[in-house]
Amino acid sequence: MAWNVLVLGGGFAGFTAARRLERRVPHQAAKVTLVNDVNFMLYTPLLPGAAGGTLEPRHVVVPLREELRSSELLLGHVTGADPSRKVVNVQTAGGGKEELPYDQLLVALGSTSRTPPIPGLKEHAIGFKTLSEAIALRNRVVHAMEQAEHVEGEDARRALLSFVVVGAGYAGLEGIAEMQDFASDVVDLYPRCRMTGLRFTLVEARERVMGEIPAQLAEYATAELRRRGIEVRTSTTVKQVAADSLELSSGEVIPTRTVCWTAGVKPHPVVSRLGLPLTDDGRIDTDRFCQVAGFSDVWAVGDAAAVPDPARRGQPSPPTAQHALRQAKVAADNLAGALGNGRRRPFRYRTLGVFVDMGRHQAVASTVGIKWRGFPAWFLARSYHLALMPGTKRKLRLVVDWTVGLVFGRDASELGQLGHPPALDRSNVPSMDEAPGLDEGDFLQERTAGGTPTERPSGDGPQIDAESKSG
Ligand SMILES: Cc1cc2nc3c(=O)[nH]c(=O)nc-3n(C[C@H](O)[C@H](O)[C@H](O)COP(=O)(O)OP(=O)(O)OC[C@H]3O[C@@H](n4cnc5c(N)ncnc54)[C@H](O)[C@@H]3O)c2cc1C
Repeated sequence: MAWNVLVLGGGFAGFTAARRLERRVPHQAAKVTLVNDVNFMLYTPLLPGAAGGTLEPRHVVVPLREELRSSELLLGHVTGADPSRKVVNVQTAGGGKEELPYDQLLVALGSTSRTPPIPGLKEHAIGFKTLSEAIALRNRVVHAMEQAEHVEGEDARRALLSFVVVGAGYAGLEGIAEMQDFASDVVDLYPRCRMTGLRFTLVEARERVMGEIPAQLAEYATAELRRRGIEVRTSTTVKQVAADSLELSSGEVIPTRTVCWTAGVKPHPVVSRLGLPLTDDGRIDTDRFCQVAGFSDVWAVGDAAAVPDPARRGQPSPPTAQHALRQAKVAADNLAGALGNGRRRPFRYRTLGVFVDMGRHQAVASTVGIKWRGFPAWFLARSYHLALMPGTKRKLRLVVDWTVGLVFGRDASELGQLGHPPALDRSNVPSMDEAPGLDEGDFLQERTAGGTPTERPSGDGPQIDAESKSG
């Protein structure tokens, strides 16, 4: 009888683990099923490129069905588990509820944005972890410029043209650099916006940006952002967020209608419903073999797991793709070992390098102790991601996108209506006179997206929520 192996989550860790298991365990010996809520893996380091319009959104994802060989993909939401009965509960894409039995379970459900109880944060800020958030952010920037062209009053225009990113890790720093690059590329098409000017602010609670990279490189990255006109506020936190402003711990109030929150992650909420032991920060308690404490048949890796960091005694590994990938390989090997295919080995990885791509041919990088900055670092960063992106087709698409972007720049189309087809019978769509609560931007959105204004949380920007899952 073949063993039943379940892999939960098809991101960096889950996808890598499934691929590794295909090689380590003969397919007659085990049936590997990967459960994921979307049918692709999001390559998050390229998300800022998709937000900034240098990459096609479809080119920063890996279709799981194409890349998996003998593993089966089950599209669905994991809703819970009972390890004492060795079952996982899944709500399938077809709408049914299934209880999946397993002999070996590997959990790789990743993380979601951590949102502290800051007044107005949940209502007015947007995250930057998913494809839908990245595209919504881009659309917001374009939409804000469209609105600013018509709005009366300099104060209102300034708030529309001011963008704040909170959190200066990978996502925040690369995200703000790409967004500002994109906005400055297209602002010439908006005469009134050009006159008022764009304002970008990066807010970070710690003393410096990018705690993950050497201080010298972080300083270089900060200087590069400032050179581009981006305001960097370190040792600063957010006190409250409103629809048209944000207040900082320093007391400063920044007028803005776009706040992007990238300050921290936490495991997916479903992780607490799997019946597994958790650490204080909610991650799955896992040993250095990636095995879950007290369970011989459950393994956990990636952002959702607290696998001990070999580089920092007593600390869990940081939530990065590099760690997720390596843990996945270790866990898959150990799981295969538990099925009689190979020997156990511990997770030993220490960060070999980091790359922070800031667009415009600028980046900072640190590889095996060597520090890089400027164009060489940018070239290294792109080559690294190109090498890591699975599949030749997708590598080629990236090269084409980057090359086209270099030659032709970017376009300013706002595609908020994607995934929101208008109603077939549109005789009841209100006119502006009949819908006085809407501003012009909302009205445009209403007509193109076919949604109702109450469906949008803050009513100030289009949202694509076709795939609103974490990446
Ligand atoms: C913008 C950005 C840039 C980044 N850049 C870098 C970088 O340059 N280098 C680096 O090392 N790290 C980077 N990271 C961090 C990196 O993305 C994460 O550490 C990595 O994705 C973690 O991998 P994972 O497999 O644990 O989780 P994920 O990749 O998030 O995968 C989790 C998977 O589980 C699925 N899932 C979640 N809940 C359920 C459920 N209930 N049912 C079914 N499926 C579910 C999700 O849809 C997803 O497919 C970046 C992150 C972001 C947001």
